[in-house]
Amino acid sequence: METVLPLPVPVLVPVQGSSAGFPVRRIYCVGRNYADHAREMGGDPKREPPFFFGKPWDAAVPGGGVIAYPPATADLHHEVELVVALGQGGRDIPVEAALERVFGYAVGLDLTRRDLQARAKEKGQPWEMAKGFDQSAPLSALMPVAQIGHPASGAIWLSVNGAERQRGDLGQMTWSVAEIIAHLSGFVALAPGDLIFTGTPAGVGAIQKGDRVRCGIEGVGELKILVG
Ligand code: MN
Repeated sequence: METVLPLPVPVLVPVQGSSAGFPVRRIYCVGRNYADHAREMGGDPKREPPFFFGKPWDAAVPGGGVIAYPPATADLHHEVELVVALGQGGRDIPVEAALERVFGYAVGLDLTRRDLQARAKEKGQPWEMAKGFDQSAPLSALMPVAQIGHPASGAIWLSVNGAERQRGDLGQMTWSVAEIIAHLSGFVALAPGDLIFTGTPAGVGAIQKGDRVRCGIEGVGELKILVG
């Protein structure tokens, strides 16, 4: 069928060692997946089942670069996260079979309008406008599993204008990548192209216009943004 409007242009994430891009389908995020960050957000780091929220697929900004300071906030926060990129999907995926679905991994930023999130929590309202705004999901090039395997440990860090703000280790994740995929696939049918942001370690904080944010994960890569 002809379309009454032009079809949306897909977001393609560069893949290390390939000239072909990874087309983004959906973006899911896990909340509070590191005990020290759960505590800093006033939560209880007990191992409660993971909870999920989403961002629009076109919030992804492959390669980072200049990210416009978003409207309607005075408290934009950085959260560095391991991003899982699915090469295959499914429903009710068992933990033991979950990692087979992963195409690769990236370093991502779950940018958050913390003031809107606080207000939403207070009023029992949805987090959408706090989490799912334009350009809220910058991410690095994907490292295919074929090259790096499945990183279960390794430093995850973030600095702002050269000063370190976040540092943790992937080994501190409350729920592993396999467990996250298994849980999430019990709620929705996952599909090739889905991205999952897996939570952030402690040290989240505000960024301002002009700030240079650099973040990385050992063995996965690095990402830089400039808040414009
Ligand atoms: Mn997050």
